[in-house]
Amino acid sequence: MSNLYGAIEAGGTKFVCAVGSSPDNLYVEQFATTTPEETLFLAIKFFKEQNYKNQLSAIGIGSFGPIDLNHNSDTYGYITSTPKMNWSNIDFVGGIKAEFNIPIGFDTDVNCAALGEHYWGAAKGLVDFIYLTIGTGIGGGGMLNGKLMHGLGHPEMGHVFIPLDSKDKYKGKCPFHNNSCFEGLASGPAIHERWGKPAKDLGYSHEAWGLEAQYISVALVNYILTLSPQRIIIGGGVMEQKQLFPLIHQKVRTMLNSYIQLPEIKNNINSYIVPPSLGKRAGVLGAIALAKQELEHK
Ligand SMILES: [Zn+2]
Repeated sequence: MSNLYGAIEAGGTKFVCAVGSSPDNLYVEQFATTTPEETLFLAIKFFKEQNYKNQLSAIGIGSFGPIDLNHNSDTYGYITSTPKMNWSNIDFVGGIKAEFNIPIGFDTDVNCAALGEHYWGAAKGLVDFIYLTIGTGIGGGGMLNGKLMHGLGHPEMGHVFIPLDSKDKYKGKCPFHNNSCFEGLASGPAIHERWGKPAKDLGYSHEAWGLEAQYISVALVNYILTLSPQRIIIGGGVMEQKQLFPLIHQKVRTMLNSYIQLPEIKNNINSYIVPPSLGKRAGVLGAIALAKQELEHK
């Protein structure tokens, strides 16, 4: 019998928990992210029930952050300095490990989604790519040379600095950088506050989308110039506004101004900047893939 894995996609608004082994074998439950005690209790309860039916071989966790990924650190597996209330300094991995003595994989939500797309989706066969999510917050991860992007800590692509449009008077939504950074200017809550309505209620042709596409394109151009990814996958609630994709394709090409002569960008930008092919399941499937990797590396 093949191994069965547990997965958590821990988001700021909801926790998605699953057991399975692939997109064809996946059982999912989700609940709201409330206090750490209540939310972790529900996650543990879910896995205990599932584990009773079929034993889990490993659990993968993709979490909102910032998180501590340094195995030598005293706070490895913690959510660290998050602006999300009550969730700073929470021992996420330790809390799960105390209940299940099996390998636990831990990474950022975006690296997990990237891994899911690498196994089963839009990044199959690629070793250098970016996965970006634009929703309640903005985050980015992906792979470099076939390995999930880490470093001193982990990338924080949502907080790169972006020049403010001369007509944009918005004060920004990032508690750390106000209107200086990508998340402060272009997250779902920033769109809502700037225009007085949630993104999904603004309508297809609202001027919000031109400005949104501009800020996203500036960030993408900087990632392209710095990391030279083979593809960029963009998911998250804001990107459900599909009209953004053609606007972004056009603006990225205009900003690069033919400086990069690679055919993927020059001739095929539609298949270079794409939505996740696993859709909303990228994160939780990536956590399954992370569990799989963790077991193989033990
Ligand atoms: Zn910021």
